[in-house]
Amino acid sequence: MGDEKVKAEALQIIGMFQVLPRLVVFDLDYTLWPFYCECRSKREMPSLYPHVKGILHAFKEKGIDMAIASRSPTADIAKTFIEKLSINSMFVAQEIFSSWTHKTDHFQRIHSRTGVPFNSMLFFDDEDRNIQAVSKMGVTSILVGNGVNLGALRQGLTEYSQNVNKIEKNKQRWRTKFSKSASSTEENDQK
Ligand SMILES: [Mg+2]
Repeated sequence: MGDEKVKAEALQIIGMFQVLPRLVVFDLDYTLWPFYCECRSKREMPSLYPHVKGILHAFKEKGIDMAIASRSPTADIAKTFIEKLSINSMFVAQEIFSSWTHKTDHFQRIHSRTGVPFNSMLFFDDEDRNIQAVSKMGVTSILVGNGVNLGALRQGLTEYSQNVNKIEKNKQRWRTKFSKSASSTEENDQK
């Protein structure tokens, strides 16, 4: 499937959802491209997973911001590859540094750079420990088995809207609880 075809399908999938994330964050190695960039040379021409370019362009067209969160120890190679693939302008933030934490500090930085709350973000990564740690921060986090593709996109947007609904329901529950206790206090005052 060519990039344009993937983009059209991605736009169709995105169009099915009423609530959308404000920021979509991607890991690099084995999420956007099928290799560890630390094992490659800057002189090589890298390639992305087949659906990635179309999906990035679809988010761009929908006005949804994107960012990178990578623990690659070779940020210089990663950045060279991002340039070579002509996707540099796609991202509002690129946090690429190795760290002992499972990307929680990457997300703190992305949050302070963009101002987007964690529960308005969607994250794709191929490592379960990153998914575990980042989802605890309130980010909808999707484990990819074979890179970002249309299936992962659909799953991500589905889980994102389910999480938003859960938050809304909880707020509603609190509001009802609060207004009930407020009115019972009023009744007591009148006695
Ligand atoms: Mg990875």
